[in-house]
Amino acid sequence: MKTIKKILYATDFSESSELACDYALALAKLAGAEVHVLHVIGEFADRRKSMIQPESMALLEREVEIQAVKEMEEFCKKKFNRKILYTSEVVLGIPFEEIIKKAGELPADLIVVGTHGRTGLEHVIVGSTAERLVRRSPVPVLTVRVPG
Ligand code: AMP
Repeated sequence: MKTIKKILYATDFSESSELACDYALALAKLAGAEVHVLHVIGEFADRRKSMIQPESMALLEREVEIQAVKEMEEFCKKKFNRKILYTSEVVLGIPFEEIIKKAGELPADLIVVGTHGRTGLEHVIVGSTAERLVRRSPVPVLTVRVPG
């Protein structure tokens, strides 16, 4: 029988991904699995980026990273502390690519995400990260929708 030893839970700290967290936690407890919590800082793709001085851009990126690490610490403390074994990580890149890459590296037996994220595109059935994961992930993906 297939065992679940490692769950990759990816979060953008949105409401939708918080509910997915509860499922990652419940499954980890049931299976006795560890959770790896991942947040990806998306690349700043605005065309005006090229008009910003490289030093200012580096400062901005550093600040965003510091804030993201802080947010991750607070999130994990609130959601996971003393409940299960977990590790956490903040990386830079394209969210779905980094999530799939990490699933291979760990390796993860399951990926858990929300159906939607911060982009708030409620009219689409699933967000673009969730959809790309479902289409391309080599491991099963559990997507969790916030009812309503
Ligand atoms: P989206 O498809 O972007 O609407 O987001 C769907 C789900 O993918 C979210 O609820 C998160 O679980 C996950 N996700 C989206 N963006 C990120 C990100 N930058 N880092 C980690 N997970 C993410």
